Amino acid sequence: MVIEDCLFCKIVAGEIPADIVHETEDTLAFRDINPQAPVHILIIPRKHIATINDLDDADQAIVGSLFTAARDIAAAEGLADDGYRVVMNCNEAAGQTVFHIHLHLLGGRRFGWPPG
Ligand code: 5GP
Ligand code: ZN
Repeated sequence: MVIEDCLFCKIVAGEIPADIVHETEDTLAFRDINPQAPVHILIIPRKHIATINDLDDADQAIVGSLFTAARDIAAAEGLADDGYRVVMNCNEAAGQTVFHIHLHLLGGRRFGWPPG
């Protein structure tokens, strides 16, 4: 389902260009336009899901596929041994700005904890 005016649905539909690095039946991954690390890739479900709060129990396989995509992309980008971070923000207080869920995959530098 393509949700009108959803930026990431438009990328899935090919209506907006993106630097796509990985695709599966359920997922699409592309480089973040404003990278926060040497490697910063967004992994999204092809299905429109606005936030974690909007997940259905039936979406469990889709969410799992975001993580197996992250595993494969981290290996392909040479990040697996040194380490990397995956983050999903939910709603405004956490910094979510695009309301189509996405896993941030960040790597190529050290990360602090706790996050800001
Ligand atoms: P959020 O703040 O919702 O967790 O993450 C949204 C991410 O989408 C941000 O890191 C932002 O840089 C990225 N972003 C916003 N618009 C675009 C776009 O048009 N193309 C790409 N590749 N990334 C985008
Ligand atoms: Zn969407």
